Parts: sequence; C-alpha cells; structure tokens
Amino acid sequence: MAAFVLAQRRQIDRVLWRGRLHLGGDQGIEVSLHIGFVLTLVTVTWLLAAALFPYLFPGWEPGLYWVVATGVALIDSFAGLAHELGHAIVAVARGRRVYHISLHGLVAAARRTAGPARPRDQFAIALAGPVSHLLVACALLCAWRLLPIDNEPLRVAMGFPAISNFAAGLLNLLPVSPLDGGRVARAVIAWLFGV
Ligand SMILES: [Zn+2]
Repeated sequence: MAAFVLAQRRQIDRVLWRGRLHLGGDQGIEVSLHIGFVLTLVTVTWLLAAALFPYLFPGWEPGLYWVVATGVALIDSFAGLAHELGHAIVAVARGRRVYHISLHGLVAAARRTAGPARPRDQFAIALAGPVSHLLVACALLCAWRLLPIDNEPLRVAMGFPAISNFAAGLLNLLPVSPLDGGRVARAVIAWLFGV
C-alpha cells in the first residue's frame, strides 16, 4: 500500500517543465512545473465551465464558459507563482538564497536558505506572499473597472480571480501556523520582545 501511495505521489510530482529565473542573484532560481499543475488546471476549468458558471450566469454561448473558465483557472494557478515570487524577491533582496520554486497547481512551494535571520527580515519575507495575492487582486480589480460595462464574460474572467486572490491574501494573513500570517506574528513577537 505504501509503495502504491509512493508511486502515485511520484506520478503527481513528475516534472513537465524546468526553467531558470534570474532575480539579481548569481545562479538564478530553478522553476519547475509539475503534472499536478496541469491536473489542477483541467479540474478547476471543468468545474467552472460545466457546473458553476452555467448556474451563476445562464445564457452564454456554450464555448464561452470554457474560454472564461480556462482564463480564471490560469490566472489563479499562476497566482501561486506570484505568491512564491513575492517571498523570493524579498528574500533575495535581503541576502538570502532561493534555490527552487515548484508549481503544483493552485499552490507552489519554494526552497531557500534556512537558518537564523533577523526578525525584520523574517517579517518582510513572510508578509510578501500574502501581499502578492493582494497586489494581483488589486491589478485585476483595476482591469475589471476599466472593462466595458455590458461584457459580462470579461468581467467574470477578471472578477472571479480578483475575489479568490483577495480571499487567499487575507486567509494567508491569519496569524496561525503554518500560514504566512503565523510566521509574520512570530517575527513581530521576536522583533518586539527579542525572543
Ligand atoms: Zn507563503
């Protein structure tokens, strides 16, 4: 059973694409896109196009549901990259080394140097993830406000990911472990009380 679970996990962890991103460091950051990213993208697109959007917004052309759902799923999937990039940019700016960012779907993970860091560095690095979601939400809301008022599908394509990124940003700020908000709270306590 354990071997089966491990084999399934290896299958989901399979890398589809690997690249390198340069954020000012010497060696850059390796970025890998895993098969879980595609599986999540397909599942979210299908749920939105086949169930949620026809229920919430009846009367569109059938193909339009799939186009809008694909756009929403893509924006939300890459918001996971924006989250980890937020951590990475601040970490690199504060002298830390970021090795790897892997994209698994709606979530991403990063590997960076561990070890002791000043509380204000930990605070800034942890805060950067949720703030990235809020910045993505603000950019989408600005785009949403500029869109033609009678184009409902276009507004849904911008409005849905704006709401989900806003919610993800706020959720991540909750001061509980293992969320970024928990790390922010720990850094603030260490900063104020020197513990
Ligand atoms: Zn984070």
